[in-house]
Amino acid sequence: MLQDYHVHALAHGEYQYTYDWLKKFLITARERQITELGFAEHDEFISQIDTTVLKRLQEEFPNIKFRLGLEVDYIPGREDYIRQLSRSCDFDYIIGSVHFIDGWGFDHPDFRYLFEERDIDQVYRRYFELVHMAVKSGLFDIIGHLDLIKIWGHRPRWHNVMFYVEPLLNSIKAAGMLIEINSAGLRKPVGEIYPQQEIIDLIASKQIAVTLGSDAHHPRQVGEGLQEVQGVLINAGFTRIASLQQRQVKMQSLNHRPEGER
Ligand SMILES: [Zn+2]
Ligand SMILES: [Zn+2]
Repeated sequence: MLQDYHVHALAHGEYQYTYDWLKKFLITARERQITELGFAEHDEFISQIDTTVLKRLQEEFPNIKFRLGLEVDYIPGREDYIRQLSRSCDFDYIIGSVHFIDGWGFDHPDFRYLFEERDIDQVYRRYFELVHMAVKSGLFDIIGHLDLIKIWGHRPRWHNVMFYVEPLLNSIKAAGMLIEINSAGLRKPVGEIYPQQEIIDLIASKQIAVTLGSDAHHPRQVGEGLQEVQGVLINAGFTRIASLQQRQVKMQSLNHRPEGER
């Protein structure tokens, strides 16, 4: 099966949550053979989610399993608010993501220049510290785009990224959480999947379960790059991916080719 659990129909508030608009995402999903599709809006737009639209679409696209997720900004001090958000709707999963380092929206093009003014090793250290706090908060099912900090192509100087990632993966494993393999990095300056190959290999060896997401902010991006991600995962030894319903995990076969077609 091929899933896309990271789709933003509202993007950053440019669009409306209407039947006609969401249907465009479903048409692309069907073309790209996505069998499980999860809309996961940014938490600031939670009030615009209309589950009646999803129900109507599910009737029209019976071959695609619908999921309702939410992508939440992890910011320390916001834990109680996040807990309330997660309970305010019948979500299948909550993705925890770090987009802000102490108020700096580092993945936004307008604030990219701040990388030039900061110590890149400190930036990496603090970013992964925040991701680690997100894991320990116990608020999330999935960690989104684990190494987003590389978005513009900046790499740490003193330590290999694995220095930060290995203890983080141990905590994710201990917490029974999932890691998202996100294809959006392919269309960003860094030009690679989140997280990078070496991290994916370590996730495989630690047997941490994964979900897939395109981070689509437009119908044409649904499922984009996920065939490539699927190939990477199969090469890394994954045979299954996680499927979530009402925040419960079931493992499903990753290889959607019919048996015997190898
Ligand atoms: Zn994100
Ligand atoms: Zn996103």
